Amino acid sequence: MAKINRREAIGWLGSCLLVPSLRLLSGQPERKPPPIELADFCADCVYHRGSKKLDFRAPFLQSGWTYATDGSVAIRISADQEQGQRAIAHLPEVGALPYWQLESGRWRNWPPRRWIEHPRCDWCPICEGTGYLRPRKDCPRCNGWGGCGWEGGAELPCEICRGSGYAGHKCPYCDGSGHAAGRPTVQQVGPAAISGRYDLILRKLPDLRWQPASGAGPAELLPLRFRFSGGDGLLMPLDLTR
Ligand SMILES: [Zn+2]
Ligand SMILES: [Zn+2]
Repeated sequence: MAKINRREAIGWLGSCLLVPSLRLLSGQPERKPPPIELADFCADCVYHRGSKKLDFRAPFLQSGWTYATDGSVAIRISADQEQGQRAIAHLPEVGALPYWQLESGRWRNWPPRRWIEHPRCDWCPICEGTGYLRPRKDCPRCNGWGGCGWEGGAELPCEICRGSGYAGHKCPYCDGSGHAAGRPTVQQVGPAAISGRYDLILRKLPDLRWQPASGAGPAELLPLRFRFSGGDGLLMPLDLTR
């Protein structure tokens, strides 16, 4: 067999890549949609409801759905997509919330990103007001408490985490302060003003559409219903009137 040098070998490989190979059976390889990042929609701390603890830090199963929620947004995909395998005890049926009902069949496209500044919302949308990007850890100095000692009856904020209790990568949008005063934080979606945080994570969902949920009260305070290929959800808007 004739020897070929390295340059010839590379040229030969290159031409193989350029020539489409013939197939015995026609058809396209199956393209799976990218998985939905449910972790983006989870809370990063445990909530209390009366004496019960509600741990929304990971997706959970309920009535055939896998849900993720942080209390303000709830997203669900069919449970056979296997992202969450645990159930949460004592949790009322999320799917029984009246807001899943639709007012009309008309789904609108998610609007282009146009964040605005709002004097009542300087909460940093990138780090959720914590000063640190996900995944966050407990501050090693104060163990996540946020305080470091007392002076004159008042607790001193930890100098390392500036009282947030978190550690990790400092947020560049607010320089770790958790406040984004003077920077855009709010996205308008139809009548609802939503935190830029939700605009960021929802915008990643494939084929995202929205419509107002049904219910009584001012349109700007009703939750948004959204859907995407693979699931749907609810999002509470910001109340910027208070
Ligand atoms: Zn600290
Ligand atoms: Zn920030």
